[in-house]
Amino acid sequence: MFTSLQGRTAIVTGGSKGIGRGIAETFADAGVNVVVTGRTESDVDACVAALAGKPGAVSGVKADVTSQEDCRRVVATAVERHGALDIVCANAGIFPSGRIEDLTPDDIEEVIGVNFKGTVYIVQAALAALTDSGHGRIIVTSSITGPITGFPGWSHYGASKAAQLGFIRTAAMELAPKNITINAVLPGNIVTEGLIEMGQEYMDGMTAAIPAGRLGSVADIGNAALFFATDEAGFITGQSLVVDGGQVLPESQEAIGEQ
Ligand code: NAP
Repeated sequence: MFTSLQGRTAIVTGGSKGIGRGIAETFADAGVNVVVTGRTESDVDACVAALAGKPGAVSGVKADVTSQEDCRRVVATAVERHGALDIVCANAGIFPSGRIEDLTPDDIEEVIGVNFKGTVYIVQAALAALTDSGHGRIIVTSSITGPITGFPGWSHYGASKAAQLGFIRTAAMELAPKNITINAVLPGNIVTEGLIEMGQEYMDGMTAAIPAGRLGSVADIGNAALFFATDEAGFITGQSLVVDGGQVLPESQEAIGEQ
């Protein structure tokens, strides 16, 4: 049995939609007060409305993780609303596709800016508050794409997701004396608004490549993130947990076919 997280406070960047919203819901169900962020106010508001009435209070802040000022404002708001900050889920991310020969400097900057720099900025902004909490937890949403696998069109995206893992290993060492852990969840293909936009053909192809025979749910990722947030996970830091239904395991097409 894990110690209750009731009354703790979490920020979930990109919590207005998709995986972030799933993390927010899982945490709120566990009694954690959650502040979700996103750039689109209507999505933030819709998420807050949908998650009303949970054991943990869910509120929103419109904010862009590429802005250090916005990140500082999100942290200040969470502390103001709930008196402390215990957990940060650095989840906001984008995954536009582009072949290497077509990538412009702006394309690369945008993906690295949101996915990598945005992760660093929210961690930097939260450090003092997480130190004060005495049991700070940072959970980064990376991906199997980049750290483990490749997919044509996502070289810049994969690099940004691998960069997050490079960051957490040294961050784990710097933060350990402050009793803060930092770990990453590496989702496989999870049904979200973003994934649905990739089209049915993409989703069917991915489902066929997953030994579990299904795409992941946002709750699958929420539960993994919740584990890293527990007191019992306090000795785990700088680590990555793949949550993909076994997608990265098959050595060949035959390995999948023989199930
Ligand atoms: P999604 O449904 O498109 O949601 C992305 C969220 O991030 C939204 O709330 C979005 O809101 C927010 N966001 C994007 N850019 C932002 C910015 N600059 N500042 C603040 N918020 C921003 O995507 P998702 O599938 O849930 O992906 C979430 C994370 O999971 C990403 O880091 C992604 O790389 C990772 N991931 C997803 C999958 C998958 O299968 N879905 C697999 C592996 C990894 P706004 O656009 O309104 O800002």
